Amino acid sequence: MNPIKIKFWGVRGSIPTPGPRTVRYGGNTSCVELRFPGVPPFIVDAGSGIRELGKELLRQDTPVKAYIFLSHFHWDHIQGLPFFKPAFQSGSHLIIHGCDEPDVELNNIISMQMDPIYFPITIEDMAADVEFKNMSEGIYSVEGIRIDAKFMHHPGYTLGYRFTYQDRSIVYICDNEPFNKDWEKPSVDPQHKASLKDRFESYVDDKEAGLVEFISGADLLIHDSQYFPEEYQKRVSWGHSPFTYSVDIAVKGRVKHLVLFHHDPDHDDEAVDRITWLSRQRLVDHGYKIPCEAAREGMEILLR
Ligand SMILES: [Zn+2]
Repeated sequence: MNPIKIKFWGVRGSIPTPGPRTVRYGGNTSCVELRFPGVPPFIVDAGSGIRELGKELLRQDTPVKAYIFLSHFHWDHIQGLPFFKPAFQSGSHLIIHGCDEPDVELNNIISMQMDPIYFPITIEDMAADVEFKNMSEGIYSVEGIRIDAKFMHHPGYTLGYRFTYQDRSIVYICDNEPFNKDWEKPSVDPQHKASLKDRFESYVDDKEAGLVEFISGADLLIHDSQYFPEEYQKRVSWGHSPFTYSVDIAVKGRVKHLVLFHHDPDHDDEAVDRITWLSRQRLVDHGYKIPCEAAREGMEILLR
């Protein structure tokens, strides 16, 4: 069977963090490339990591066609798009998927970050054929790949994606935090709270069960593991997970491989090493033996 290739171009959360402290894992923000056999590249999120990927794609002889899936529109997931060179190349064809916000459509959300106030060139300057496709919770098919999309527990509208090709599945959940009563605490803005409730209706009364079902049996789970538990306690409702949750959910979902993702900008390489070691230890404690590593810029995984 032809392998699926997964390559990590950006693994950091929140803001790019170049410098000697992060050189081993990398400082670019979220961007993952999925290569299914015989299909144009799927690119998940357009953080600063997409810039180098764009240069790589332009090295091929044929015009670039790519499917881009945005989890949500916080800066660290879209800030690389204005620097994605294939977008400025005529003959390129980009199909950008993401979820409309209630009052703003996807194409406007993307073009707003290139408003002249923020950026010298506008989205109209993109010479590529750029299409926008709205996605919400549901099941989609692109080039014969099944894509399940589900809202995650993160401020705003944030999708997790499950890509399935010939019985092999990759789940990408970049920004997500545990379900617990704390998200209903009074300090949460009432309007925001209402929108969270709307989004999670489909989880019915056991929200975590919906997440476990979504990741169930996946060959690869890429999951937000931004914090140590003691850090998370001070940042409940910020929309990110302690590594302990990533491990526990991986065990509950019986996934076959866990990649820790969306590293905290304040974590140096040693901190990410520690999170990796503790995650592996926790898997041992659960008696659940699967590969587990922290995402690293340039890392490739082949799924056979
Ligand atoms: Zn993020």
